[in-house]
Amino acid sequence: MHLAGIIKQSLIDYPGELAAVLFTRGCNFLCPYCHNSHLLYKRQGGTDLPLENVLAFLKERRGFLDGVVFTGGEPTKNPELEQAMVEIKQLGYKIKLDTNGSHPELLVRLLDKGLLDYVAMDVKAALDYKKYYAACGGNLSSRDFLNVRNSIYLLLLAPIMVEFRTTIVPSLHSKENIRQIAQAIEGARLYTLQQFYPDNAMDINLRGTYTYSREDFEEMAELCAPYVKEVRIIE
Ligand code: SF4
Repeated sequence: MHLAGIIKQSLIDYPGELAAVLFTRGCNFLCPYCHNSHLLYKRQGGTDLPLENVLAFLKERRGFLDGVVFTGGEPTKNPELEQAMVEIKQLGYKIKLDTNGSHPELLVRLLDKGLLDYVAMDVKAALDYKKYYAACGGNLSSRDFLNVRNSIYLLLLAPIMVEFRTTIVPSLHSKENIRQIAQAIEGARLYTLQQFYPDNAMDINLRGTYTYSREDFEEMAELCAPYVKEVRIIE
């Protein structure tokens, strides 16, 4: 397995833990607001980071770092993810996975094997195919949509910490849509409403467009509050 990059220590990517962050390459979606578009395709020049080097680093940092975060791109697209997690677990680390939820069978396997301690799943739109299709940049099969729905149901029942989150883009999400998402994840422990950064958007048509204000976010948080245990705003 080769990784696109690493942050050697972070206090913000794994709530409550000091963690290394590993970036995988490749994604099955093309969200227009994606700010990691450089991770979606094969590397142009240079070399990726071999997993062996990362494991050696993690071995050295045992007792200093608490956890490891897999993010991307979409980590579950990588066929070697499971084995990488097995080796990282053997070193004693907690593991957090950031995912778009399109591979529920793999999530089941990782959960059954005790390889996950925390999952943060993006819920990109209200659970309506047309809305989800737009939020994924038109790169969404009906199978993918079913998979996303299955991942939500699976994670709502999972015995680990689960966070659902939405990057909120005014041209894709009305405030009512955000309430509908909260309703679709009813009972969740944490729903994060995340600000969108237009200047880094993959779709150049979104660059320079307006974003919701702090007051708008607070209004959306209030709309979501009846459905989930906690709503968090990240700006
Ligand atoms: S924002 Fe969308 S396109 Fe970008 S990595 Fe996440 S799922 Fe893939």
